[in-house]
Order: sequence, then C-alpha cells, then structure tokens
Amino acid sequence: MAASNTETATRAIWQRYRARIEELFAEMWAEPEMPAMEYASMARLAEFLERNGFAVERGAGGVPTAFKARSGNGKGPRIGILAEYDALPSLDNEAVPYRKGSGRKPGHGCGHNHIGPANTGAGIAAAAALAELGLDGEIIVVGCPAEEIGWGKLALQDAGVFDELDVILTSHGDYQNGSLARPCHGVASGEFRFTGDSAHGGMGTTRNALAAAEAAIAAFEAKRSEADPDLQFKHIFRVAGVAPGVMPEEVRVWCSVRHLDFDRLTAGYDLMHETFEEIAEVENVGFSAHLINMCRGYLGNDTIGHVLAEALEVIGPPAWSEDDIAFMTELSANSAPGTEFDLHRELDYFDTGVDYYGQDDGDVSWAIPLGRVNWAYPKNVPIHHWAWTALSGHSASTPGPMMASEALALGAVALAQQPELIDGAKAELARRTEGQTIAPPRYGARAILTTDPAAFWDASWTA
Ligand SMILES: [Zn+2]
Repeated sequence: MAASNTETATRAIWQRYRARIEELFAEMWAEPEMPAMEYASMARLAEFLERNGFAVERGAGGVPTAFKARSGNGKGPRIGILAEYDALPSLDNEAVPYRKGSGRKPGHGCGHNHIGPANTGAGIAAAAALAELGLDGEIIVVGCPAEEIGWGKLALQDAGVFDELDVILTSHGDYQNGSLARPCHGVASGEFRFTGDSAHGGMGTTRNALAAAEAAIAAFEAKRSEADPDLQFKHIFRVAGVAPGVMPEEVRVWCSVRHLDFDRLTAGYDLMHETFEEIAEVENVGFSAHLINMCRGYLGNDTIGHVLAEALEVIGPPAWSEDDIAFMTELSANSAPGTEFDLHRELDYFDTGVDYYGQDDGDVSWAIPLGRVNWAYPKNVPIHHWAWTALSGHSASTPGPMMASEALALGAVALAQQPELIDGAKAELARRTEGQTIAPPRYGARAILTTDPAAFWDASWTA
C-alpha cells in the first residue's frame, strides 16, 4: 500500500524516538516490578513523556503507580493510548534460550516491558506529528498498573480516568501479527479465607481450615463441570501452612474463573463463592471472601480495527534477523520440546474466533471504542512462562513491539486527521451494545493495593 504524505511524515517522526523506546525495553526488563508496585517503570515512562512535552499527572485516579499524560492543542478528538508495565511473580529468567532463573522472583513473562515503552513512544510520536502537521487533537497516554491481576484499568475506569477519551489504542505481544476486533475471555478473581484451629499433625482438629479449603475447591470443581463446562477455573494457595506438624489456623486461596460470556462469568463467580461458603459452614470453619477483579471480555470495533490494519499494511510485518530466528528456534526447542517452530510472519485481520485470555481493558472497550494491535512470538514459546521472560529480554523480541508502536502512532494520527472515523467507531459501539445495560466495573482490594501493595502480595492483608 502506498503511504500518504501524512504517513510518511509520521513514520519519520516516530524514528526519532525509536532508540529510546528500545532502551526502555531493556531497562524495564532488567527491573521487573510486581503489579501495583511499578514505581521505577512508571517513573521511566513519565520522564520519557515529560522530556517530550507531555504534562504528566502521577497517581492518576488515586492509584499511585498510574499516570495520565497529555499533549496537544486542546482542540479536536482526545485519543487515548494505554501503557502497561507490570511483571509476573516467579517468572524470572535470564535472556538466554534455556531455563536460567530462580522461579522465585518476578519476570516479564507477559512482555509488558514492551507494551509500556512501545505504546508510550507511539503517543509521543503521534503528539509530535500532530504539532508538526498542524492537526487538531490531543494525545493522552494513560499509564495502567496491575494489568496482570486484571485490576488496574478497572480501578482507573471506576475513578473516571478514561471518561474524557473519544477512542483508545493499545497493543500486546501474542502469537499473531495484526489488528484485532474479536472477543477475549472475561475473567474474575477473588481471595477466599478459611480460618480454623491450629493443631498437632498427629492429633488433628475438628476445625481444619486446610481440609475445608481443599473440600471447597473439589466441591466447586464438581459443580462447575455440571453447571457450565465452559467456565474455566484456576486456584492457587496463598497461605496454606508452613509445616505438616502444625495444621494452619488460616488458609487463603486466590481463585479465578474465565468465560467468554460475562453473565455466565458472574454466575460462575457467584456459584464459586456460595459453594465455598457452604463447605466452610459444613466444616465448621470461619470464612470470608474478597473480590479482586471482574472484567468483561474485549468488545471489538471494526472501524478502529481497520484504521490500525491500514497502518500495519504501511509498516509491514516484523523484520526478524537470522540471529533473532536462531535464538527463538533454540528457545522454542527448550520450552516446547518436540514441537515444530511456528512463527506468524505475515499480517492478518482478526475479526473471527476468540482469544483465550482476559484483559482488564475489557470493560473500557464497552464504553469507549478501543483498538488493538498484536505482535507475534513463536507459538512454541508459552506466555506466562520463563521462556517468555527470556525472549522479552532478548533483541529477538523487539521487531514486534516496534511494529506495534509505529502502527499506533500512525493510527492515532489518522484518527486525528479524520475525526469522522471516530464518529463511526462510536456509532459502531452504540450498535454493538444496543439494548444492553452495561454495569459499571466491579473490583476490590482498592484500599490495600493503593496503600500497601506489599501486604497484598505477601498475603498479610485483610479486607
Ligand atoms: Zn499481558
């Protein structure tokens, strides 16, 4: 596709920021931070924006590691770009094509060290392009913490941070290159606390919190497969004792459910809560529950999707070097032995099918048209796995987010130049949600995550 003058100019402007974006990929990878504790990552991005003329509000929406940064002439559309920058617990690894990590420290196993700088850089380039090309519009980069627990954007949306935006753009690493307008899963999670009596391992207790929690999980697993086999259920024990000679007084389980349909998701969450409560009663132990997040799946928008698809066509798919491919091939062989190396190297438009993940911008996409670009890593490199952390620290991981960054910059400028596209995207959103009542976002743990996130993570908090 032949590039327009605006596209050519925007691409040249974006090139100015490329080197800093790439440095930030590496800096943020080297300092992975847990959700809601992304102090250094947030500071890096805020500084990048300020140095390039953005006015930055730190702690946007009352969330300490969030920010909202704006640049523009105050006229025309308000185009939002989302940045994410949190890491995942226990996924540390060196940037080598094999397992070399402790499994006890955080790591960028979802590549948010790319999303933050790539999307922020896109916003900076787009704002510079609007100024230099004399176009109306405001670019607003929203720094969104705690995506990995599906929480940050719910908290920001609830606080009204996104309300002023006309349209929103974002990107994420995946197994495909292209623009997306298809749904992903909704996801809800909560922490459940069972309390009983401590006891000697040989003498037992009538109020066994651990036995109650295990029975509750088994009971819900059985009910779930009857009630709604499409409902996915995962749990982890956060507190479950220290030594088998001392039965724990307290057991905490963090559970999540996922479903494509939001109503069935909420029904599934409620069923889980009720089941746990019933079993706690039968087992004669104390029980409390605390919702952490409940996110809708993504609502696609073809109007924005096509704007981003056109931008991607101008840029072309990621250009990996032979060394990049060699690294990813070796990594794939080590993380998924016996599989054949499989990397999407083209560009596609994804408007059918489903993505099997949840995103905390799901609720926002039902209120404001939201467009998404994905970039591909090999299908053999599992996401939320040490191998994704390894890849995210290696230069083989950069062509994808660079493509996404440039596409978001081009997309933002195209939307400012043709505001009728934004009107069209809003009309499409209205059509897609017609007759539906969309409840405001639901989430919990705000008090602890905004005041003492370390206590949230070491499970010493109480609601
Ligand atoms: Zn992610």
